[in-house]
Amino acid sequence: MIVEIDTNSGFCFGVVTAIHKAEEELDKSDKLHCLGAIVHNSMEVRRLEEKGLVTIDRDMFDHLHGQKILFRAHGEPPSTYIQAKKNNLTIIDATCPVVLNLQKRIRKAYLASDSQQTQIVIYGKKAHAEVNGLVGQTDGNAIVIEGVEDLSKLDYSKNICLFSQTTKSIEGFNKIVAEIQKRMDSDKTFVFNDTICRQVANRIPKIINFVARHDLILFVSGRESSNGKVLFDECKKVNSNIYMISDLDEVDYTIFEGVKSVGICGATSTPKWLMEELKQKIEQNVIP
Ligand code: SF4
Repeated sequence: MIVEIDTNSGFCFGVVTAIHKAEEELDKSDKLHCLGAIVHNSMEVRRLEEKGLVTIDRDMFDHLHGQKILFRAHGEPPSTYIQAKKNNLTIIDATCPVVLNLQKRIRKAYLASDSQQTQIVIYGKKAHAEVNGLVGQTDGNAIVIEGVEDLSKLDYSKNICLFSQTTKSIEGFNKIVAEIQKRMDSDKTFVFNDTICRQVANRIPKIINFVARHDLILFVSGRESSNGKVLFDECKKVNSNIYMISDLDEVDYTIFEGVKSVGICGATSTPKWLMEELKQKIEQNVIP
């Protein structure tokens, strides 16, 4: 049996930068707070927590004073920066530049439009950290749609300006665009901005190629990861013998019976070291 790791899977540059910033700070001091999990991968979070990273939730953040706080790659709404200033926190801002640029574009579109006439719409996952940061650019006025089923929320007698969360699928975005175009009143404008990060989208053809070559696929990803879900669904379309693994202990070794080739791949939040450990574990437990 051969076990191969997909060379194109693993951290994107946004996550690499965030983790690098955290490690840099932890080299200087033994404690750094992070608002939310730094990456949607519990094992990588654990590795950094052992070095002194302290993951806190929104409630703990509101009560934190005079400490250093890291804002992860997903970005934050303006209200978080205001609260941090009030609490005299030192911000280590690891917002991914791609997300930062999207936040600026949404803010600009919001300020340039009249909210009575134009709806700012975000195609994304409700309450996802990145989406909260994007909605914050519109003072909470943007409408979030998760799919075609949410399109009845929009008023087609008003203009629409559409953006996408960075990790959504291009296919899903195109469907939304086509459906809005059908419903719009002819005298209203519909502007759509494909703001999907190509770090995720460009991986799809490569990962599809990879999973098609193997009998069994182990997809390593945190279950909360948006891009993990997008990539997993794409992989499943070409190879249904696929399992999502978020922790090495989840591997059921009976699935390897009769399998000649195993492919290991993952999301932009999946550390390379975790895929390598999984490969080693399979080789120790399955290969005679
Ligand atoms: S997927 Fe793209 S937008 Fe998201 S953190 Fe990575 S590089 Fe940034």
